[in-house]
Amino acid sequence: MLTDVPEFLPKRAPTVVLSRVPPDEAAKFASKFDELSAELTKTGVAFTAVDSIYDLQEDDEGAAFLRSIKGDLICIAWHYPRATKWVLARQNLEVNGRARKLHCIDARDNSPSKLAQTTQDILKGTASAIVEPPERKDPPLKSALTPKERGALAENQLPPPLNAELSPRWYPVIDYDTCTNCMDCMDFCLFGVYGVDADTILRVVQQDQCRQDCPACSRVCPVGAIMFPKYETNQSIAGAIGGDRGEIKLDLSKIFGKPKGRHQAALERDRELLKAGRKPVGADKVEKLADAFEKMDI
Ligand code: SF4
Ligand code: SF4
Repeated sequence: MLTDVPEFLPKRAPTVVLSRVPPDEAAKFASKFDELSAELTKTGVAFTAVDSIYDLQEDDEGAAFLRSIKGDLICIAWHYPRATKWVLARQNLEVNGRARKLHCIDARDNSPSKLAQTTQDILKGTASAIVEPPERKDPPLKSALTPKERGALAENQLPPPLNAELSPRWYPVIDYDTCTNCMDCMDFCLFGVYGVDADTILRVVQQDQCRQDCPACSRVCPVGAIMFPKYETNQSIAGAIGGDRGEIKLDLSKIFGKPKGRHQAALERDRELLKAGRKPVGADKVEKLADAFEKMDI
């Protein structure tokens, strides 16, 4: 159990970590990374550069270094701050507790000099870049199936992993400040990406089963807790706070009376099923599947 740190212990200065640019975004940001590194050095900010935090594997040196950091942390990365926070949580870093203040800075957001200044201000204690949890408004759970039973359903028909090693990293990141553990994403994804842990908490269990550039389940989540930090066409899905997650020009909700994000998600999922040589299940079946789950009495 965590206890308050006694006041007589010397306060440790926050560690500053600068994430390298995700390899597939190097063309866009590599020069800014160099400029920012130079600016931090010039202004006397001690920092450690680690490989792209989104691309780190659990046993990578950079991940081990992140886990070894004690005390407060300032992470400058190439994502929205909310996405950075939960990418770090996937590396088993405490991001929400009393033992650590985590500041997340979007390196794309400002000039290198402004970013260095913000970092200095946080180090001095005159600024903050903490991503606070939103106020929770938990909707009731919708299904009679237990999370474990849902996990077993979601693991059916696993295709071989396609992303690992062959293409840039692409997987969903969950904002656990917002997630209600409703399991809609696990019901929806037919690629076995989601599962549950021993405490029946929704987890991204097979991240490299996720289909490259598929953002479908992020539109299905009722509370917007699923992020794809590298998704370029929708800032909300990439981790910005708020915003609309459906994007199709023709508003299908007006025709079918259903939320457009859900229809778009079903179309995106069908596209990925076809690409994987599997049968599409279609938008209507998605809704029926969800209804059937709700009615099952197990
Ligand atoms: S993006 Fe697509 S493949 Fe990836 S977890 Fe979501 S529904 Fe599954
Ligand atoms: S991420 Fe969203 S859809 Fe998935 S369990 Fe959490 S709240 Fe439900």
